Amino acid sequence: MYSKLSLNFTTLIFLCLFSHFLSAQDFTLIQNVNVWDGTSDKLKNGQSVLIEDNLVKEVGKNLSAPDGANIIDGKGKTLIPGMSDAHTHLATTSRGNDRRNSEHWMYIAAKSTKAAENFLMLGFTTVRDLGGPVFGLKRAIDEGIIPGPRIYPSGGFLSQTSGHGDFRNPSEPNPHFAGKGNLPMDQQGWFYLVDGRPEVLKAARENLKNGATQLKVMAGGGISSEFDPIHSVQFTPDELSAAVEAAADWDTYVAVHIYTSKGIIRALEAGVKCIDHGHLVDEEAMKLIKEKDAWLVPQSYWSLRPAPDSTVELTNRMKKSLQVRAGAINEMELAKKYNVNLGYGTDAFGPLGGEERALQEFTSRVRWYTPLEVLKQATSGNAKLLAMCGKLDPYTEGKLGVVEPGAYADLLIYEGNPLEDEQVIVNYKENLKLIMKDGKVYKNEL
Ligand SMILES: [Zn+2]
Repeated sequence: MYSKLSLNFTTLIFLCLFSHFLSAQDFTLIQNVNVWDGTSDKLKNGQSVLIEDNLVKEVGKNLSAPDGANIIDGKGKTLIPGMSDAHTHLATTSRGNDRRNSEHWMYIAAKSTKAAENFLMLGFTTVRDLGGPVFGLKRAIDEGIIPGPRIYPSGGFLSQTSGHGDFRNPSEPNPHFAGKGNLPMDQQGWFYLVDGRPEVLKAARENLKNGATQLKVMAGGGISSEFDPIHSVQFTPDELSAAVEAAADWDTYVAVHIYTSKGIIRALEAGVKCIDHGHLVDEEAMKLIKEKDAWLVPQSYWSLRPAPDSTVELTNRMKKSLQVRAGAINEMELAKKYNVNLGYGTDAFGPLGGEERALQEFTSRVRWYTPLEVLKQATSGNAKLLAMCGKLDPYTEGKLGVVEPGAYADLLIYEGNPLEDEQVIVNYKENLKLIMKDGKVYKNEL
């Protein structure tokens, strides 16, 4: 008698849990929105979007809500897919010297957490992070502990000694010659100073072990590193090939930091698939980007920066910056002429709040592309670039950068029509009314 009762009781508990499980789906119905699906040229007016858990289930007119669904009235505003930024450094919220010498790693981590949230609140639901120790940040975001975009991490960037990842001051010894004297930034996984094929392979594989979805290699001079001239080409063809081979063995690719044509051509010939920056590209190098079906991720908004006050004495970094900026317009002219794969990636890093610069790229790109074309670059276009990490893609449950059944429920609702006016996106504080990522609402001013 007793055992029968207890069995029935157990069964009852089980049934309760099971029925709870059956009804655990979370439905949200967004009604009365004009939908842009991420690929087409027009808005579809008067639509509803049904979301089940973290995926879009249906898009159409007059969809009915399942029992218990959350209902959101879109009030006739515009719904688009979440945007992505293909070139961020979420961990980089201060200058190299501060990170190296005066900031505790936990302070850096706390600021990175805020930077990630800031990107999400601009409308970027996904980023490709092109260097820095963001593996833990990604994990915390994916686990829902903190708000932030999905992250495709690169891990520590690979730089040769004296290259664009070599931030040592003259008094800091080279770790290769100083025995155990590792640099703090090295230990935290910001970069690997590597020379020669075996060292490149080792650092590449270390990043892949840690969860990098693609590799970032410094292939030429940079602005924020003091001692490498912009014209310098970094890594030999064989060193670049080593990184490409290590990436290919894990079904992914290499992206490089490079401004000059000479470096672009060397990288492409070594099998690099993504050219980041590229401001000093010439006709020959742009043709090769097209021929190799590679990607270009330029920052055209640098062309909008005001010229420095003529009374100010220019630092080395300012001079380098001016040298690079001078190519920004020519780069876009050539990119348009050869119709290359163009990623939307802004390299907007630095002190907190500076993330807003990531939207300025809309303001500058409309000189060459319509607002609709730029939106495609920042959504469905970037999704193709992100997917180049093949079997390492951490987000395969749904599609990114589109609004259609089976896509991730990464959705934005704007006041106004961003297909016709890019300033709707840029002035996000007034216009961005709803942010949903993975089916969860992070902002709702409807
Ligand atoms: Zn960068």
